Amino acid sequence: MVFRKGIILLVFFALISCEQFEYSRSEFALGTVCTIALYEQGRSGIYNSIFKRIFEIEQLMSVNIPDSDISRINAAAGINQVQVDNDTFYVIQRALYFAEKSGGAFDPTVGPLVSLWNIGADVKRIPSEDEINNVLPLVNFRYVELDLQTNSVYLTKIGMALDLGAIAKGYAADEAAKILRQTKIKSAKIDLGGDVYMYGKKRDKSPWRIGLQNPVGDRGSIIGVLRTGECTIVTSGVYERYFEIDENRYHHIFSPFNGYPVNNGLLSVTIVSDNSMDSDALSTSVFVLGYEKGLALVKTIPGAEAVFIFDDKSLKITSGLDFILTDNSYQTAATKE
Ligand code: AMP
Ligand code: MG
Repeated sequence: MVFRKGIILLVFFALISCEQFEYSRSEFALGTVCTIALYEQGRSGIYNSIFKRIFEIEQLMSVNIPDSDISRINAAAGINQVQVDNDTFYVIQRALYFAEKSGGAFDPTVGPLVSLWNIGADVKRIPSEDEINNVLPLVNFRYVELDLQTNSVYLTKIGMALDLGAIAKGYAADEAAKILRQTKIKSAKIDLGGDVYMYGKKRDKSPWRIGLQNPVGDRGSIIGVLRTGECTIVTSGVYERYFEIDENRYHHIFSPFNGYPVNNGLLSVTIVSDNSMDSDALSTSVFVLGYEKGLALVKTIPGAEAVFIFDDKSLKITSGLDFILTDNSYQTAATKE
């Protein structure tokens, strides 16, 4: 009898140890490589649920999917309003909130500028003044009408187009973290391109260490390390997507005021906070606003911290962050608060 019990126990443990844990999984979604790392007991079912949710968000909000909510809204610009999913409606509302809050520096109606510049395509071309002046009047978040009763969105001018590229990844990272909260996972990294969510705590309770990308270095080369608890770290920078002509860099974050890639001495802005969607909108807003106005905006958001990297190799960091500089060619200073 004891012998039989022993065998049953052995089979049981053998079955448990056979369970395959995945340390991380990557998929291409939302225009970037998304990597989820569940540091302990990463069961494939959890990865499946997270990626299912990320693809769902992409399906709703991508401008590159013809029947996405955003493509349908854009196709109906100046014609009629379009009813959308709750997720899409919520992200658009939040985008319009940050548009208002940033005085239009953040503007989800940049679609026509994004198409005109076509950054990241094979053909590199600087649009003419006339082309820019033709599309600029279409970039204005005040021309978006929301119908709260029916979840409908109307772009009031023909040719207008929404682009949620500056906020949707942040929403997806928050949704991924929400799924993790329903599991027993204790520590994980959700990395959606420039949007990183450090979830939970490491087993030894030591802080997370997150490298800050050198904006002019190779991918993966860092200038320093942030030490944090659970948080989201979102960066907007000149290195994500760009082309170069005559040593000038034309990148993917546009000034809605003049229609050109923002050129204000900033190479990147990183926001650290507890909400990835808001940080995503904020990092883009602050990048467009520039250092002084951007810092003033950061200070209005409770719990948000920022790192600014400038093209003269200087860095400014808000006081709530623990940062260790590792690249000595850069100079660090605290922001004046
Ligand atoms: P991010 O990397 O989060 O700063 O987002 C950049 C992306 O947002 C770009 O690739 C565009 O799709 C879009 N975008 C560019 N300029 C703006 C802007 N001023 N406001 C909102 N979205 C923008
Ligand atoms: Mg952003």
